[in-house]
Amino acid sequence: MTEKFIPLTDYRNRNNIPEIPSVLEAPSGLLSDTLKRPLRDLRISVTDHCNFRCVYCMPKEMFDKDYAFLPHSALLSFEEITRLAAIFIRHGVEKIRLTGGEPLLRKNIERLIGMLSSLRTPDGRELDLTLTTNGSLLAKKARLLKDAGLKRVTVSLDALDDATFKRMNDVDFPVTDVLAGIDAAHQAGLGPIKINMVVKRGMNEQEILPMARHFKGSPYILRLIEYMDVGASNGWKMDEVIPSAEVVRRIHAELPVQQVAPNYPGETAGRWRYQDGGGEIGVISSVTQAFCHDCNRARLSTEGKLYTCLFAGAGHDFRALLRGNRSDSEISSAVAQIWRVRNDRYSELRSANTSDLPTAIRKVEMSYIGG
Ligand code: SAM
Ligand code: SF4
Ligand code: SF4
Repeated sequence: MTEKFIPLTDYRNRNNIPEIPSVLEAPSGLLSDTLKRPLRDLRISVTDHCNFRCVYCMPKEMFDKDYAFLPHSALLSFEEITRLAAIFIRHGVEKIRLTGGEPLLRKNIERLIGMLSSLRTPDGRELDLTLTTNGSLLAKKARLLKDAGLKRVTVSLDALDDATFKRMNDVDFPVTDVLAGIDAAHQAGLGPIKINMVVKRGMNEQEILPMARHFKGSPYILRLIEYMDVGASNGWKMDEVIPSAEVVRRIHAELPVQQVAPNYPGETAGRWRYQDGGGEIGVISSVTQAFCHDCNRARLSTEGKLYTCLFAGAGHDFRALLRGNRSDSEISSAVAQIWRVRNDRYSELRSANTSDLPTAIRKVEMSYIGG
């Protein structure tokens, strides 16, 4: 009998404990990587669980009942997250975004928000503290989040047509409940609210104009995102990407828009304003116009691994340092050492098809690292 072995690797198990430099250094807020990019933005994934199974992120076939989600003991505690966040802030981080998985599924998330919102930059400023959510629990939690100190939210919504939206979230979740969540967030003062729509050819492209019409003139900013080759499970193909330039052309044909300057250097979305004063839209061209040259973002996974790129194959295990009784000064010096040698620019180097990538750079899943 011939036996067939299928080698299984779990990208989350690649371990990489950061080295503590022999000479410790005080953070200056002026860290810069090999491409002269500062560290300003930290995304923290607070859970790898989600109540949706979006086809482009957590396809049901892979994230099924047998999928090994992380045990609770593996997750960073709120105290551990806050301690690391404070260290990153001393290195220059000004913006923190909570994500996941679905961040509102993390029990008592408002307690973490309360802890993070009390942190200040070295010159005494409040953080830009925000969260990305699928909106399903927002109607229930918006007020609680605002009271805890959250500044604003970004809500993902891929279609207004119920059948299309349900096909994309793959758990039969209705559009109306997400719209109610967006309204509740607005009422609670969690603005300006951005609405993220991932555009996938052949899936929801017919929803581009209905979404633009719906959010035009509203307090919400629609952002159309190119479908990305994150993770290794979504079977990404270049021809399923609708380039942002085409999205803008389609909108412009009915609702004329003109380009406007970015709000700040490193802004990921290209801004377009309706010529009749109906507000603006954003387009995120992660595939066709990589913005690696300005990328000042670090990501912390649910179990405390630091990733210096959304497409990195391995993270640096800061949980091991936190739980290994290392001092703030040691952990801070380890962060500095990692950022200084950072040279990631995956999107600029990407291949046209995930299956062409060597396995050594197979990537972590978006639901684990946080989008
Ligand atoms: N569950 C939350 C949500 O959906 O908003 C937060 C986590 S989700 C991973 C963060 C963002 O990543 C969402 O706006 C989602 O649409 C986006 N995203 C996930 N997979 C993507 C992909 N393959 N290409 C582009 N964006 C993606
Ligand atoms: Fe869940 Fe967000 Fe991924 Fe959809 S995009 S499966 S809501 S984590
Ligand atoms: Fe940043 Fe990596 Fe995305 Fe480039 S590919 S923008 S370096 S996260």
